[in-house]
Amino acid sequence: TEMTAQDVLDLVKKEEVKIIDFRFMDFPGMQQHFSVPAEALELDTFTEGLGFDGSSIRGWQAINESDMIVVPQPQTAFIDPFMEIKTLVMTCNIGDPITGEDYTRDPRNIAQKAQNYLKSTGIGDTAFIGAEAEFFVLDDIRYDQNEHSGYYFIDSSEGRWNSGRDEGPNLGYKPRYKEGYFPVPPSDALQDLRSEMVLHMQNVGLSVEAHHHEVATGGQCEIDLRFAPLLDMADDMTKYKYIVKNTARKHGKTVTFMPKPLFMDNGSGMHTHLSIWKDGKNTFFGDGYAGLSQEALYAIGGILKHAPALLAFTNPTTNSYKRLVPGYEAPVNLAYSRRNRSAAVRIPMYSTSEKSKRFEFRCPDPSCNPYLSFSALLMAAVDGIQNKIDPGEPLDRNIYDLSPQEAAQVLTTPGTLREALEALRADHDFLLRGDVFTEDVIQTWIDYKLENEVLALDLRPHPYEFALYYDI
Ligand code: GLU
Ligand code: MG
Ligand code: MG
Repeated sequence: TEMTAQDVLDLVKKEEVKIIDFRFMDFPGMQQHFSVPAEALELDTFTEGLGFDGSSIRGWQAINESDMIVVPQPQTAFIDPFMEIKTLVMTCNIGDPITGEDYTRDPRNIAQKAQNYLKSTGIGDTAFIGAEAEFFVLDDIRYDQNEHSGYYFIDSSEGRWNSGRDEGPNLGYKPRYKEGYFPVPPSDALQDLRSEMVLHMQNVGLSVEAHHHEVATGGQCEIDLRFAPLLDMADDMTKYKYIVKNTARKHGKTVTFMPKPLFMDNGSGMHTHLSIWKDGKNTFFGDGYAGLSQEALYAIGGILKHAPALLAFTNPTTNSYKRLVPGYEAPVNLAYSRRNRSAAVRIPMYSTSEKSKRFEFRCPDPSCNPYLSFSALLMAAVDGIQNKIDPGEPLDRNIYDLSPQEAAQVLTTPGTLREALEALRADHDFLLRGDVFTEDVIQTWIDYKLENEVLALDLRPHPYEFALYYDI
């Protein structure tokens, strides 16, 4: 049962909440907030909203009127476990006070429209999403400016990681190279920290399925949330990041969700599982390849066809493309398979029941804005179903066993953010249906990313360029 506005007001009284914190997702995917004293929250705040100046919010500057309103969503309320002063948090929709309409560049609004669009097509009534975000828990990050110019390099005589600098503490029990998945403590030094994160998650209403150390050394972790409808999953993923970062912070550590923080080690993905349901039935369940229905195969066809453009939302940072390389369990092939982890779409075979039948899009990484990423993924899947896009043959053989002619047939993920943004520029009609993504949203996204990230990085000398060229 979801919390109503009245439930929230009752909770504020009962828990003697002092501060109400309003949160929303900005355009690139960072949560922003501001607070009011608890007395300011009234029943009509939930319908009329509360004003704020939206002109300094990233990606929203183009709006002529900077006055905007937040409209708190009662079902997202939780008591912040990290604040000493009793604080109740709510996720908000963004409204335009002049027109009274939802703001079209609000990512949460886009996710709501994606859900509505699915219903309007008759293909399904609910898109279920499960997302597995991986992340690194680190004490600090420093660059070596030695010839390896990464954080870690392999000491080949030992076959183990060596940071290339004095580490201080004894390195016993340090996970071996690519063996972080998943020996018990003391090799796994983060068990208690992850458990504490999980308890916080449960307390704010998230359903957690499992937590574990991941493959990379240097504290790579994963906590898996139970699947939920698209918009709820995006809200949940936002809470997830907040809890993960703040729990680590309390223990003097930091967390990064950047996709590839460490040179030559596994990066962090956010594999995204999708199934579309109609009238209580899973439309992806069937008797085709890997237990999928024809709809599911068409959905895969749509995702693979639009993948280069789709990645501009699911893998939206320059760092994202340092993860999508061979050798680290990250996908590089625009193909599907029941077993191949280098394929962009994988069908997990431990789920054979109707309830759990789904496929996993392995490209996304946790630097994405989950509202935009899940919405774009759904739109590509719907396009595949509507236009009966054939996904081709599955790629069940190891890519390295293919003949050069066969291998040349398999398309690969874009190599850079710039490529993905150019692909989006050329291919975005599938996102515009039902006004889910507007032309303005697409153009603003491309311009924002090119100017603030792609160009910003291109203009800067890189530390590794010093290793390559300094002595020339
Ligand atoms: N870390 C891998 C990635 O970048 C995924 C490992 C796994 O299969 O869970 O996607
Ligand atoms: Mg994983
Ligand atoms: Mg996975």
